[in-house]
Amino acid sequence: MDRVLADYEAVVGSNAISQLHQLARDLKGARVVHVNSTRVGGGVAEILDWLISLMNDLGLEASWEVVEGHAEYFHTTKAFHNGLQGNNVPLTRKMLDAYEATLEANAERLRPILEEADFVFIHDPQPAMLLKLCPNRKGIWLWRCHIDASHPNRKVWSYLRSLVAGFDASIFSMPDFAQPLPHPQFLIAPSIDPLSDKNCELPDDEIASALSRLGVPTDRPILTQISRFDRFKDPVGVVEAYNLLKDSTPSTLVLAGGGATDDPEGAAVLEEVQDAAAGSEGIHILMLPSDAHRTINALQRASTLVIQKSTQEGFGLTVTEALWKGRPVIGGDVGGIRLQVHNHHTGYLVNTPQGAALRIRELLRSPARIHRMGVQGRKFVTESFLLNRHLREYLTLMLGMRRGVANYLIAH
Ligand code: UDP
Repeated sequence: MDRVLADYEAVVGSNAISQLHQLARDLKGARVVHVNSTRVGGGVAEILDWLISLMNDLGLEASWEVVEGHAEYFHTTKAFHNGLQGNNVPLTRKMLDAYEATLEANAERLRPILEEADFVFIHDPQPAMLLKLCPNRKGIWLWRCHIDASHPNRKVWSYLRSLVAGFDASIFSMPDFAQPLPHPQFLIAPSIDPLSDKNCELPDDEIASALSRLGVPTDRPILTQISRFDRFKDPVGVVEAYNLLKDSTPSTLVLAGGGATDDPEGAAVLEEVQDAAAGSEGIHILMLPSDAHRTINALQRASTLVIQKSTQEGFGLTVTEALWKGRPVIGGDVGGIRLQVHNHHTGYLVNTPQGAALRIRELLRSPARIHRMGVQGRKFVTESFLLNRHLREYLTLMLGMRRGVANYLIAH
């Protein structure tokens, strides 16, 4: 993404932009490195895409590094992910060996840039061990956890804690995820880029041609869930909800997703969804390429309602994307979805397929309520979940950490 902050003035106002320039004044020239484990797929990649460009536009020297690994490494990191979100997962010495060997190899490549950086943001557990492997680090290291870590599996957390305890601070998306750690913890919610291909306005004819290309009919209300095929997103639960309401309330269900390169379980989950949907006419399961941003935008805009029936969720950018487009969201009553779906205002929080079916049916019978919730959702995202607020919180945190660490060093 090659956009500059000035492009956003029309959306967020000139005061928000000048505030960011003011905050960034003392950070000019700071070398900032973000590290994650995939350049495409999933919310972290979505955020880093604009964050790097805009930090550079503000005069920082930001870059994005991606950990490279083989299947065994991603098998282990998916177990970390599932374990942090509360599943009882196996964690063998062999799995940890694959994780540790991969990060040792990556550290050989990344050590020069990481040890020299003024700020290093390590996103999620996949690259977390890099801190231990950069003993001569000069800068401030922050662990940015995007996962719903409210009830982590004890074995997984005990291992990960040994990796992240040494960071200077951690950042979580909401208070429920914070963990006992020997350093400051900050709360920063994610955000979306309102001008990206995923979220910009689209002409009606582009929306219509995207749907016709995908074979999605437009003669009935469209319900959509966009998600990686991951069990925590509960796509099978969405199929169950649809099957409960399809006879009384005609609609089309779209389940659209793609693979993230760091998610090895997608193919198996896709198969489970296809099995669950077999025989249900009206369900469209779409595998999209990783750059299908305008297609996803079109699907969200063509939808009457958007569903995100996750059973665990760090934040759920797909919820923000839908609310921004004025679509109410039927969302799982978990994690970051609770920050965005306010019951009866921007959508409904649900716990079961039955609950989802009930709320969908109720809303489809009330176009006026859909409209009212859509307006409220759009307003809420404008105020709380656009990238200027997110960037402001990152800059403030960096300034605070730099001052805090400097004071700490003087005092000791
Ligand atoms: N997404 C995408 N293609 C897909 C599925 C998801 O581009 O096939 C995007 C989606 O629009 C959102 C992000 O990936 O921007 C998913 O972020 P979210 O926080 O909802 O979930 P995560 O995948 O990070 O758990």
